[in-house]
Amino acid sequence: MPSLTRAHVLENARQMQDELTQTRRDLHMHPELGFQEHRTADTVARLLRDMGVRVETGVGITGVVGHLGEGNPVVAIRADMDALPIVEANEVPYASQTPGVMHACGHDAHTAVLLGVAKALSQLKDRPAGEARFLFQPSEEGWDAELKSGAMRMIEDGCMKGVDAVIALHVAADIETGKVEVERGYFSAAEDSFRATILGAGSHGAYPHKGVDPIFLFAQTFNAMQGIRSRRVNPVRGAVVSVGSVHGGSATNIIPDKVEITGTLRSFEDDTRQFLWRELEKALGVCRSLGGDYQLAIEKGYPGQFNAPEVVDVIRAVVSDLVGADKLVKFDPQMGAEDFAYMTEIAPGAMFRIGVKGWDMERPAHSPTFNIDEKAMPVGLAILAETTCRLLEAKSAK
Ligand SMILES: [Zn+2]
Ligand SMILES: [Zn+2]
Repeated sequence: MPSLTRAHVLENARQMQDELTQTRRDLHMHPELGFQEHRTADTVARLLRDMGVRVETGVGITGVVGHLGEGNPVVAIRADMDALPIVEANEVPYASQTPGVMHACGHDAHTAVLLGVAKALSQLKDRPAGEARFLFQPSEEGWDAELKSGAMRMIEDGCMKGVDAVIALHVAADIETGKVEVERGYFSAAEDSFRATILGAGSHGAYPHKGVDPIFLFAQTFNAMQGIRSRRVNPVRGAVVSVGSVHGGSATNIIPDKVEITGTLRSFEDDTRQFLWRELEKALGVCRSLGGDYQLAIEKGYPGQFNAPEVVDVIRAVVSDLVGADKLVKFDPQMGAEDFAYMTEIAPGAMFRIGVKGWDMERPAHSPTFNIDEKAMPVGLAILAETTCRLLEAKSAK
């Protein structure tokens, strides 16, 4: 029978430190890329079943959903499970055993922490009525052949059905262990890629007037693109237009017939996002007035992830009550993208960042030396577990 109480959620979580560390290190040693998280999903499903949690597997290809309790309301907690194509440089006993694959974004910790949340909630004798749903999602870092990420696939398979609120955490390698960042509003940006071909007419380098130089055209459109951020978007709105690759030409004395460019667009609000698409089109239109032409394809990525005020306020109150308000540090929204955004489009939700920087050196996410201070895991667990309970209470009171 469940025997623990919410009043001791942090103490109980701290007693799970060894177990959390062990699970995280096991996942760290066996990282799997997006939509290939078979071993991870098997581990998750087995541990959930051991806790008495009802389990669905194969949700969103390799995702796992756990259900604890039933009826309404439903509060979902999400963790991502995928690793990255990076060669680990850390010399630790639990380093990746899969060549070229590494948990360099902390998704091993997210998975271990959510398993801990499931266990902690399953042991509570005063867990509020309703369902706590555990979403273990594949492929946050990438897409399948149809350009769909793990969250998109899980949503298609119904993981968000009936969900009243959804929460998640992300480890933060740039802030001190145990500090928490969570604010109302946008947490991460909308992200779109673009590919453009600037079409001119090739000629001999000595006779430029006989062709239409696409490199010259590119230079003009590049200037116009820089003007989108500086002259066209409302200065108080976040936006980025970055060209990431430029390819054209093959010799010193030949003017090529085209230049291929790719880049990324970032924004928060949907109207700013669509404004960037239109402005990019206009900037490329400069090619036409100078006698050339262009083709543009925009590949839509993740939308901006919005932290709902009502959910943020609950998380902030939980952090203050459990570890003290001084652990809450100011968060500036950043232009990275997160596919958790698809979940918060369906139900009010929020993601918080929890500090895992336990040493002086920088170990940035997506780098070969990324690592986390595992002492942060019980704190993240306790915040997620208690927030889930408070949201269940708040949603059933309505
Ligand atoms: Zn990442
Ligand atoms: Zn991540």
